[in-house]
Amino acid sequence: MSGNSQEVIVIGGGVIGLSVGWYLSRAGFQVTILDRDSSGRESCSDQNAGMVVPSHFIPLAAPGVIGQGLKWMLNPKSPFYLRPRLDLEMWRWCWDFFRSSNKRNVLKYRQLLSDMSLQSRRLILEMGEELDVDIVQRGLVMYCQSRKGLENETAVADMARLVGVEAEVCGRERIRELDPDVTMDVIGGVWFPQDCHLNPGTLLAALRKDISSRGGRFLDAEAVRFIREGRRVTRIVTESEDELHVDQIVLACGAWTPDLAREFGLRLPMQGGKGYSMTLQHPVEQPRVCSLLKEGRVAVTPMGKKLRVAGTMEICGRDLSVNPLRVQGIIESFCQFFPAFKPEHFDGIDIWSGLRPCTPDGMPYIGPLPNTDNAIVATGHSMLGLSLGPVTGQIIARQLGVMDDGPALEVGLLAPQRFG
Ligand SMILES: Cc1cc2nc3c(=O)[nH]c(=O)nc-3n(C[C@H](O)[C@H](O)[C@H](O)COP(=O)(O)OP(=O)(O)OC[C@H]3O[C@@H](n4cnc5c(N)ncnc54)[C@H](O)[C@@H]3O)c2cc1C
Repeated sequence: MSGNSQEVIVIGGGVIGLSVGWYLSRAGFQVTILDRDSSGRESCSDQNAGMVVPSHFIPLAAPGVIGQGLKWMLNPKSPFYLRPRLDLEMWRWCWDFFRSSNKRNVLKYRQLLSDMSLQSRRLILEMGEELDVDIVQRGLVMYCQSRKGLENETAVADMARLVGVEAEVCGRERIRELDPDVTMDVIGGVWFPQDCHLNPGTLLAALRKDISSRGGRFLDAEAVRFIREGRRVTRIVTESEDELHVDQIVLACGAWTPDLAREFGLRLPMQGGKGYSMTLQHPVEQPRVCSLLKEGRVAVTPMGKKLRVAGTMEICGRDLSVNPLRVQGIIESFCQFFPAFKPEHFDGIDIWSGLRPCTPDGMPYIGPLPNTDNAIVATGHSMLGLSLGPVTGQIIARQLGVMDDGPALEVGLLAPQRFG
């Protein structure tokens, strides 16, 4: 990496903003991370399921999701819901999502997504080593309870090998070998050995500490508008009317990024996809491997002695409130797959909610803002922000002319203006 003394302000201190800030501070930039919520309560990053998943090379917008989503809409405990609202942006997003949910979208992006994920996995392992954060490399199992579910996942495993992701279809015996300590009611699954897991809160804390130790600053303030001179942004104006001088800005505000993109005349279609997580402090059994429960769409992640269970996708604007029925749906699905657990084990547990920044084609927006020479967007990672955080940091560092190692990626496909 080459030296640099430019001032960069990264707006948004979630996993994307921190990953970008980390690579830029290592490259010698004067980094400031600006976030309006220093508690991290608004961020989607601290208490997610902690999975790093090259296995997720199929973008969210794919064949079959619309039909499945419509069926789920009828069940109040299902893992998906779209709350109808009088909001033109939401309906435009739905239309763009509908038009993207096809085989063409999968073929267009699957190789890029897999290349990015595998590169990000390499980077997060390096990051973990440097920051002393434990990253468990035992893979992920997609568990199935139905024959149809296993058939679908077997087809995904075949496609995975085509894009360079390892996958093994497993029967009950093999599953028991992979995770002998837990009781499971499944007929089989697919093991993706390259996937890993970690405690996201620990990683974020380590990134913050390291950025600070390199002279980075953290400001608790909300960016509301920008002052420009020609094609350059020269100052960021905060809600308290402070003006911050800037050489370069990076917009990494997760589900809220469209508000600031609008200041640049850019429509950035995005919806918050709400999900919940719960962390059992003393689980009755502790899996070794992280997993996804196919039919329930629930994520299960061991975190040291604790166990995190997460799920649902509610397209709900920016509402972080907890819907008890959907939470009950997560708990019931989990207990069906892991019968040693009972719903009572979750009594009184804290429920965390976060908004995944979801784009209509399931791919992030990474790249320069149009008509501006010193502003870059890094957002829209949907279900993959932790997985793709490091590679996003690397891409931004490259776009700023530093950090030229690693494979070439076709990042033009991620241009923020691709929906016009
Ligand atoms: C239940 C659940 C489980 C998940 N599990 C996984 C997983 O296992 N693996 C994975 O890869 N991903 C997972 N995800 C997705 C992942 O959490 C997100 O993709 C990721 O957190 C998005 O990060 P971000 O930095 O873009 O946004 P955020 O973390 O939401 O950060 C955005 C920040 O911007 C700040 N902000 C917004 N507007 C402004 C402004 N105007 N001025 C200043 N600050 C502002 C906000 O306060 C916020 O802190 C999961 C998500 C959920 C909900």
